Amino acid sequence: MNRDRKYWNEEMETILADKLHDLHNKKFLSHMDYVFSKSEFYKEKFKAAGISRGDIQSVDDIDKLPFTEKQELRDSQLTKAPLGKHMACESGDIVRFYSSSGTTGVPTYIGLTQNDIDGWIEIGCRYGWSCGFRPDDIIAMAVGAGGYFAAAGLQGALEHLGATVVPIGPGATERILAAFQNLKANAMFGTPSYAVYFLDWLKKKEIDPKSLGCKKIIVGGEPGGSDPYIRKKVQEGFGCKFSEGMGLGEVAVAVWSECYKQDGMHFAGQGLVHVEIIDPETLKPIKDLKTGTNGELVYSSLFRECMPLIRYRTRDQVIINMDPCECGRTGMRIKCVGRTDDMLLILGVNVYPAAIRDVIGTFQPKVSGMLEIQLDKPGPKVEPPLKIKVEHAKGVGDLKALKKELEAGIREKLVFRADVELVPDGSLPRYEYKGKLVRKLYEE
Ligand SMILES: [Zn+2]
Repeated sequence: MNRDRKYWNEEMETILADKLHDLHNKKFLSHMDYVFSKSEFYKEKFKAAGISRGDIQSVDDIDKLPFTEKQELRDSQLTKAPLGKHMACESGDIVRFYSSSGTTGVPTYIGLTQNDIDGWIEIGCRYGWSCGFRPDDIIAMAVGAGGYFAAAGLQGALEHLGATVVPIGPGATERILAAFQNLKANAMFGTPSYAVYFLDWLKKKEIDPKSLGCKKIIVGGEPGGSDPYIRKKVQEGFGCKFSEGMGLGEVAVAVWSECYKQDGMHFAGQGLVHVEIIDPETLKPIKDLKTGTNGELVYSSLFRECMPLIRYRTRDQVIINMDPCECGRTGMRIKCVGRTDDMLLILGVNVYPAAIRDVIGTFQPKVSGMLEIQLDKPGPKVEPPLKIKVEHAKGVGDLKALKKELEAGIREKLVFRADVELVPDGSLPRYEYKGKLVRKLYEE
C-alpha cells in the first residue's frame, strides 16, 4: 500500500456531481428491485403508503417513499426474531451479527452478509484514509462492538488499509494506556468524550499525555468532535492531530470523514449510501443545497443485503458546505450541530445545545469549556432563563463579573436569557463513552 496516495478511492472521492447522480440513480433503482422483492417490512410499508415499484422511476422519486424510523426497526425486530421483518436476505447468507445493549435494555441486532461487510470496509477505508490513518499506524480502539456498530465495523476497514489495530473498548483506560506504553500505539479511535476523559485521567495520574506518543486521534459516535474547544484541548494536550468522522451502523460504518483541512466532514459514501437533507420543520428534502443550508440527514442504503434501509431518519442536524475543498474531494462537507431530539425551543427559536457550548467556549481560558444545560421540565419548549452550569478555570477572580459576561454573550449570540451557575474546573462529570450536554432534573 502506497502510504503517500491522496485518496483511498480516487474515482469515487473526486466524482463530479452529475456523474454521482447517474451512479446513484442506477444503484438506487437496482436496490429498489431488491427491496421491493425481498424485504417483508418494506413490502408492507410501501403497500400501506400506496406505492408500487413502478412509481419509482429514478432516484429523484425517492421522496415519494415514506421515512423509516428507528422505532419501526425495534418493533419489526420484536415481531420477527431475531432481526425483524426488515431482514431481506437468507439466514445462511449472514456472516456476522452485532448486538447493542440499547438504552431500553432490549438488544438491537444488526446482521451482515459478506457483501455488506465488503461495503463497510470500502467506506471505512475512505474514512480512515481521509482522516489520516496510514498502514504504519498502530491504533488503540477505545470503542467496542457494544458501543456503536459503526466503530466495531471500522476495525476491519483499518486492518484492510494496512494499519495495526488494538481492540480494547471503553471502560478499560489502563489497557488503553498500556497499548501506548507497551505496544507503541501511535493513534487512538474513540468518542470525543473519551478523548477528553482520557486526557483528564492521565493528568490526574500525573502522566504527561505527550509522553504517550499519540499522534492521531480520530473520533466518532457523537457530535462533540466538531467542537473547536474539545478539538483544541485534545490536540494541545496530546500533541496530536484530531479528526472526526460520522456514520451509522444501521446504514454504513462511516458516511462522512474529515480531510487534513479539518473544515467539516466530506461525504464518503459515493455509490454506497444515498443522502438527503430534510427540512426539520416540513420534513421535505431540500433540493437546492447551498453552503449554510441546515437540515436533518436521511440515509438510504444502496448496497445492504441483510437489512436494507430506505429513507432512514438519523435525527442528526447538520450544516452543509458545498464549497470546493483544497484536498480535491468532491463530497459535500457537513458539520453536525446536534440531534433533532436535543433541540430546545426557546421563545420560538430553535437552539441546539452544541450552539450554547460554542458560545461558552469562546470564553476560554476563563472557562474550561465543560458545561451542563439543566432542564426542569421536558423539552423542547423551555421558558427562559435557561439554567446552565459552567466550569470556570482555576484562578478566575471575579466570578460575578464572569457570570454576567457569559449571560450577556449568550443573549447577544443566541438571543435568549440564561441563568449561569459557575462551578470549579473539574466538577462537572467527564463521560467515558458519550458526553451529555443536557441534564434532566425531572423524573422521566
Ligand atoms: Zn477536503
